[in-house]
Amino acid sequence: MLALENVSAGYGNLQVLHGISLEVQPGELVAIIGANGAGKTTTLRTISGFIRPSSGSISFEGEPLAGKRPHDIARRGLVQVPEGRSLFGGLTVLENLSMGGYTRTAAEREEALREVYELFPVLKERRDQPAATLSGGQQQMVAIGRALMARPRLLMLDEPSLGLDPKTTGRVFSVVERIRQTGVAVLIVEQDAVKTLRLADRAYVLESGEVALQGTGSELLEDQKVRSAYLGL
Ligand code: ATP
Repeated sequence: MLALENVSAGYGNLQVLHGISLEVQPGELVAIIGANGAGKTTTLRTISGFIRPSSGSISFEGEPLAGKRPHDIARRGLVQVPEGRSLFGGLTVLENLSMGGYTRTAAEREEALREVYELFPVLKERRDQPAATLSGGQQQMVAIGRALMARPRLLMLDEPSLGLDPKTTGRVFSVVERIRQTGVAVLIVEQDAVKTLRLADRAYVLESGEVALQGTGSELLEDQKVRSAYLGL
């Protein structure tokens, strides 16, 4: 469904990704883990079209994404929830959610909104409240809900647990699991490697912009190197 082949990318003269290859199959939940600065966010931003790869190729559902702009990529069903959520704090929950559906028809938006409210009943209760006045966990739900409004086939999440307490993190992870159960593929970047590997079908370990290891979630949870370097075990 999504395939990166030998992708290199970076910022100006700084090369961050050195020939990354990875793939996501339909319906799969795939994780990218790795230390701070390993290039996880850069990988997602390259897939979303915000950063142009200097070499290599990215394709989504068989079509190359080279030269496509972020909104074209999102319209194809590859949608990212950015790190740090980036909500419009002064706008209401509903206004923030509606922004995610701008490429869809009114009927599609209504249907998507019903689904988002079903997944996050609290957002329906709070729909007229400014987003800035929600708790961190609720804001993360708005950010995920806004991405779902675009009706993704593949949802990319960048550190959804950032700044959340363990209980709220657990809630966010169970929502991710439910999203996957609806048939949406998920590519998730996370610091919380243990929880993420338990959730993931497969995962890639990034080190200094390269894929150092890959395997099923359970294989990597058992891997001695992963356990000492990333799981603190
Ligand atoms: P973290 O978990 O800390 O977010 P990460 O694995 O997501 O780390 P990236 O954010 O992809 O890592 O950063 C990889 C490298 O790229 C780092 O060395 C970082 O300093 C650099 N970098 C990130 N964003 C920019 C930018 N806008 N301009 C220049 N360098 C950047």
